[in-house]
Parts: sequence; C-alpha cells; structure tokens
Amino acid sequence: MSLITVGTMAFDAIETPFGKTDRIVGGSATYVAYAAINFVKPVQQISIVGFDFPKDEMEELKRRGVQLDGVEIVPGKKSFFWSGRYHEDMNTRDTLITDLNVLADFDPKVPDSYQGAEFLMLGNLMPKLQLSVIKQLVKRPKLIIMDTMNFWMEIAMPDLEEVLKHVDMLMVNDAEARQLTGQFSLVKAAREIMKMGPQFLIIKKGEHGALLFHRDDVFFAPALPLEEVFDPTGAGDTFAGGFIGHLAKSGDISFENMKRAIIVGSAMASFCVEKFGPTRLKEVNKNDIDVRIQQFKDLVSFDIELV
Ligand code: AMP
Repeated sequence: MSLITVGTMAFDAIETPFGKTDRIVGGSATYVAYAAINFVKPVQQISIVGFDFPKDEMEELKRRGVQLDGVEIVPGKKSFFWSGRYHEDMNTRDTLITDLNVLADFDPKVPDSYQGAEFLMLGNLMPKLQLSVIKQLVKRPKLIIMDTMNFWMEIAMPDLEEVLKHVDMLMVNDAEARQLTGQFSLVKAAREIMKMGPQFLIIKKGEHGALLFHRDDVFFAPALPLEEVFDPTGAGDTFAGGFIGHLAKSGDISFENMKRAIIVGSAMASFCVEKFGPTRLKEVNKNDIDVRIQQFKDLVSFDIELV
C-alpha cells in the first residue's frame, strides 16, 4: 500500500543541555519519511525546499524508496529554518526562530502519480496547505492522520479547525491537546478533540509514552527508558512515520492494530533521540528495529492472576 507524506523539509539549529548544532537537516516530512520507509514502499513525499537543501539528502531519501516528485525546489530562496532550545528535562522546548522562507508561498501540488494512495500523513505544516492536499486527492485515502503544533494554533486556528473535520486521526503532544481545548484533563481534552472531527486521537507525552483514544477506548504505550536522550527533535514525526508505516504495511486500520502501530512508532522514536537530527534513523536496519520492538514487549508484558 502506498503512503503520501506532507510536511516540511528543513534546516534546524538545536540546543540541548548536551550540545548545540549549527544548521542540520530536519523538517517534519523528512523524519516521517525516514521512519515510514522501513515499513512501506513507496513513500510519496510532498514538500518544498530552497536552493540550499543538500542534494545528497534528497538522493539518500530516493535511494531508500521515497519518491520526491511532489517536492518543489525553489532556486532563488532558502529552505524553511527552525531553531529550538530544549529545557533541562528534554521534554519541553522553546522555539527560538521560525523562518518560513520557501514555505511562505508554498502551494502543494499532488502529482498524478501519487493519486490512489491509501494512506495520508499530514505532517506538521500550515493547516490550509494540509487541507489543500486532502482536497486534491481524487479518491479519499483509507486513513488520514494529521499532526500540528502550538505555532499553528496561535496563528491559524480557524484553518486548523477546518482540517480537523476532514481527518481520521490527530496526533499531538499533551501541551498541544491542552492548548487546543483549554482542558487540563487529557481525557476531557480527548473527548473534545474527537468532537471536532477525528475519530482517533494520539496524545504524545514525550518520555512518558503515548495515549491512543477512540470513542470510549483508551490504550497506553510507554516510551522506552533510555540511558541517554541526546536530541528529541523529530521524535514526534518519527513516531508518526513508524505508526502510519506499520498500518500501511498491514493495511489494517483497526484499533487493535493501532495498538501495535503505537509500539512501532515508539520504537522508531526511541532511535531518533539517540543522535542529533535524523542521523540515527539512517543507521538502523530491520534487525535493530525488531530487537527494539521486542524490548518494548518485554517492558510491558506481565502475568497476573485475578482472584
Ligand atoms: P518534532 O520534534 O517532532 O515536533 O518535529 C521537529 C521538526 O519540525 C523540526 O525538524 C522542524 O524543522 C519542524 N518544524 C518546526 N516548526 C515547524 C512548523 N511551524 N511547521 C512545520 N514544521 C516545523
């Protein structure tokens, strides 16, 4: 089954308590693609870059099976740039700079060759562009998932509310779920978000795992306790790539299979944070992924007799 991914391909400058990077490759769609391609081919990418985005990064994505026909290259402009600083706990961060650059006039076009995809991952991007992609699809995908962030809630809330009406699942972190609804309780926030459109909701809680909601059902998956978390940037997008990649591989979008997918997403995210940028994601192979998924199984499985 094929998967369309939409989002940013960017340069990031990151500060963590452990170090600082200059401009390294990042972007929501970059992370989603590097994670999802381990499970599903092709991944059909829609994004925009400037003259400065490294050609070898594009080649690396293509070599892995990511189609880039939907990635526009603008010769005279710079790529999207984001800079962030993580707090001591690595779970929260401040955005220092968001330079839209090429993103300011992005008008995504879905190539004809992408039509018919069964899965759509709307990575973090301007909500009206996420909606434009949905509207261009001749056949509605079997599953549409969207990610977003506080930045878009602050400057484009009405557009965001509109996209929510067209998607099956929203993926946000706990702070974003609270900001979106004004509810502190995540259970109440989940109920409100599901009234806004999506039938499914994932709330990510960084190193404290993730919650999956659907109607009155809730499932919780922990994050792997890691000795070292080097850079959490892209962990959310990598989680999304692993999650939807697993669903697209099996074609099964039941709640039961989503429970498996949340573990796959968490396993992929646990790799992402081990090095700066997408570096670690490029190193791991199928065996590494299988071993990590097994570690997750061991982490949460136990026997108990109910008397
Ligand atoms: P995550 O850590 O999963 O939230 O994703 C971080 C990635 O999102 C970085 O690589 C950034 O380039 C990208 N990013 C940051 N801000 C935005 C934004 N406003 N819209 C789209 N992508 C963004």
